[in-house]
Amino acid sequence: MNIFVTGGAGYIGSICVEELLNAGHAVTVFDNLTEGHREAIDPRASFAEGDLMDVPTITNALAASKAEAVMHFAANALVGESMTNPVKYFRNNVTGGLHLLEAMVQTGVKKIVFSSTCATFGTPDRVPIDESLLQKPINPYGESKLMFEQMLRWFDEIHGITHVALRYFNAAGASQRFGEDHRIETHLIPNILKVALGQKESVSVFGTDYPTPDGTCIRDYIHILDLAQAHMLALTARSSAKYNLGTGGGTSVREVIAACEKVTGRPIRVIEEPRRPGDPARLIASSEKIHRELGWTPKFQSIEPIIESAWKWHLAHPTGYR
Ligand code: UDP
Repeated sequence: MNIFVTGGAGYIGSICVEELLNAGHAVTVFDNLTEGHREAIDPRASFAEGDLMDVPTITNALAASKAEAVMHFAANALVGESMTNPVKYFRNNVTGGLHLLEAMVQTGVKKIVFSSTCATFGTPDRVPIDESLLQKPINPYGESKLMFEQMLRWFDEIHGITHVALRYFNAAGASQRFGEDHRIETHLIPNILKVALGQKESVSVFGTDYPTPDGTCIRDYIHILDLAQAHMLALTARSSAKYNLGTGGGTSVREVIAACEKVTGRPIRVIEEPRRPGDPARLIASSEKIHRELGWTPKFQSIEPIIESAWKWHLAHPTGYR
């Protein structure tokens, strides 16, 4: 298929592009390079530099790509930043997304796979989180993603655009070629690996008084290659659907740090800090629905091989893409 990938120069987008190309699809990457990196664009893909604020540019690029489907990764994705700058999140994630849908209507593209998030659920009443749980975001980031999910329903009903929304839990790891390099790094695993590389003195543990066995937050870390496979399967969906994507297992912050020490063979200095606002204690996915309906099963079920792949990439790219 011809696939149009917004945000294809970013962390998750670049690796999905690589896997789409490996599977024989033709890809056009659409990215404004504010978060993404030119070096993260697979050279086998076409590249259209552009911004989701600009409908004619999206429409022209979409028409030129002859896309049969869109994968929409381009977004701002930092919970903390969204709490101080909601305008940025609603503008880029909601208005930008709406512009993309407008361009799809104009060019007649009828399928979209959307990067959504477990942040649309807020603090869940129970775990594992399945698709029947009420979505009650507790930050503008999660709200902006939920608003786009809700728009998708109407573009299906009114314009016949089929969607698959994939709510990622904690994406982690790397492919051999592409990895995680954010200009501002707030995520746990890359920050621990920076300590192992000697680029940071210590890693902060945000909150040690959560109601979990070791007092730190529990997350469901999912390998980026498993996420990419889910996107590929989403292209085969015949009707619109929303799926939660995780392994169904949980790892605490302290367990992630211990696993990083084991994988890297280097000690990690830790500083215990207060809780980070907006962090629920425990987020674990139930991915039964996508397993049942599309046959998706994550290959990486434990944290160590996920960290190993990230560590390999960071060792080979100690300064990221720069
Ligand atoms: N975390 C931490 N220190 C860091 C970064 C994150 O203790 O330097 C914690 C964070 O509070 C959360 C978990 O690690 O409980 C995962 O955070 P991350 O930012 O990687 O992903 P999120 O769950 O926010 O999407």
